Amino acid sequence: MSSASSSKPTDSRLPLLLIDLCSESSAVMRMLLAPRDDYPLSICSQPDQVAEHLRLGGAEILLLICPAAPPLWKKHLLDVKQACSDIPLIFVAEEISEEQGRHLCRLGASDYISLADTENCNLLQRVLRTSLRSAGYRSEVQQLRQLDPLTFISNRSHFLKQVQAVMQKAKQQQRATVLVLINIDDFSRYNATYGHTGGDALVKAMVQRLKNNLLEHELIGRLNNDEIALIYHTENCDELHNNTVYRVKSLIGLLSMPYQVRGSSRQISCSLGIASCPARGMKPEDSVELIRRACEARLKSRSKNGFSYTLFQYEKREQLDRQAELEPQLGRALRGNQFELFYQPRVELSSGRIIGAEALIRWRHPELGMIPPGEFIPLCERNGLIVPIGYWVINRACRDLHHILRARSTLSRIGLNLSFRQFKDAYLSSTIRRLIERTQVDARLLEFELTESALISDEQHVSNCLSELSAQGIDFSLDDFGTGYSSFALLQKLPISTLKIDRSFITNVTSNSSDAEIVRAIINLAHSLDKKVIAEGVENREQLNFLRRHQCDQVQGYYFSPPIPLDEFIHLLGRNRAPAVVNAPVTPLPQRARPELKVVGKD
Ligand code: C2E
Ligand code: CA
Ligand code: CA
Repeated sequence: MSSASSSKPTDSRLPLLLIDLCSESSAVMRMLLAPRDDYPLSICSQPDQVAEHLRLGGAEILLLICPAAPPLWKKHLLDVKQACSDIPLIFVAEEISEEQGRHLCRLGASDYISLADTENCNLLQRVLRTSLRSAGYRSEVQQLRQLDPLTFISNRSHFLKQVQAVMQKAKQQQRATVLVLINIDDFSRYNATYGHTGGDALVKAMVQRLKNNLLEHELIGRLNNDEIALIYHTENCDELHNNTVYRVKSLIGLLSMPYQVRGSSRQISCSLGIASCPARGMKPEDSVELIRRACEARLKSRSKNGFSYTLFQYEKREQLDRQAELEPQLGRALRGNQFELFYQPRVELSSGRIIGAEALIRWRHPELGMIPPGEFIPLCERNGLIVPIGYWVINRACRDLHHILRARSTLSRIGLNLSFRQFKDAYLSSTIRRLIERTQVDARLLEFELTESALISDEQHVSNCLSELSAQGIDFSLDDFGTGYSSFALLQKLPISTLKIDRSFITNVTSNSSDAEIVRAIINLAHSLDKKVIAEGVENREQLNFLRRHQCDQVQGYYFSPPIPLDEFIHLLGRNRAPAVVNAPVTPLPQRARPELKVVGKD
């Protein structure tokens, strides 16, 4: 192997590789090319050395000089093309007829030149220049083919190739791959409102934000109209799950900031689905499975509404079987009166008295026994049955309210959970009005508990519904507060009187200083906005004391009582008639056995 220039790896690529299979001719070529600095040379004398030369020095153009005998041209050309199909190759031999030249081009040569003609140095330079330029165009076209024309990030087909490449590399380096799918909620509605130009502008703005905040190793692509994906490889360590959640939350923080739309700012929400590899039940390079898992996770987020993310979890066959078993039975359960409402007391801290309750649904299945809402509510939200089941809950609670008021006429609140999916029902407020009229209850006793995410997705529609219901006297609270991404502007604008601090903050409030700080901050925030605060999931006296010290208004939790059937709740009201005494120590209600139901929290 001879080399006119260095054969070490270089930063500046060597533009020209001379593959010299005919030593007599090379002297001529070298003489023609050597004086020119713009085409530094690297030379090799065997087709099987080409790959190694390219690895060391690279090349932008190949010059293949073949001996006079044409029968071997095809073989030599194909051998070299096999080593590098994408670099332009100029075929050189002593004498090449036009017909032979055309044939060589069909086999993959970019151009050809007879040695006799190379005496004309200009011609040689021109062929080199033209080949280089057309190679440049080709790579530009190639690049454009890989890009999404709106956002200039990888398009679907290219991104899928990148996923494969990242997974392969991660496997070799024993790292993990994480795929994040981001889908804009209600994008078709957005397009219908702001037109396709508006939709395009939103996608562009969103991608720009993501692009500006990509981390090392992260690649971004647009898979669909409103679906953006990120893929990256990262250290495969015990902290992978936490690190992923951290990254996903920072992405949500980024995307949840308002966008400027026609001069005003507007918030959108997205559903995120995340899958990682290596993972149980999949092969390390199975990109199809990785994408399928992220899609499945994304669909789950979608059924949660608002900004939400789901990390794919390899569900046990039994879990999937259970869902598949329950889902088709839900309609029958509703018609067959298999649902029940339980009540969990709400205790006012200043008086120690039960001043209300939260109504929580249960499914008494004839064969499977009691099924907790965490198992079937997500199914109802997915298939839309939450709408009629939600009306069943309101109707049942209104009827129960008459019995409850007989036991405690001063009871001031019954909390009812309202799923985001119920807002998709155009008749929500009119149906609720009808139910209230029919059951003749005082609407001021009803408080609908909403999750923060429900507020974001279709702000205007939700806001209208809330105003209509609030005009009927109904109150609203924000459930699971602290876990979502609510906007304070919305909090002030909407008729929400109460914040319910999520149980996850209360659990460790006495042992974890950051949870304590969050709880304190939520209480202060609520009071400064002139709203009440309820702490959920109070299980012991220490938590209770903390909440009392920090002026929390009400509490709910197993420390007082789990959710119980109506008759037990009425019985409890009868026993908890203590007069209101400001700052009186709260006496725990008689402890019941732990609830027979598995309690399912939000993830
Ligand atoms: P949620 O609205 O956050 O309800 C509070 C959940 O926390 C209830 O679980 C309750 O039993 C549980 N809980 C209360 N105090 C404690 C405590 O001290 N410790 C612990 N570990 N847990 C406590 P449940 O009844 O299983 O309900 C789960 C979720 O199902 C509810 O969460 C709510 O999101 C949903 N859900 C329940 N009923 C309805 C309904 O009628 N409609 C809708 N849309 N969703 C409902
Ligand atoms: Ca609730
Ligand atoms: Ca809650």
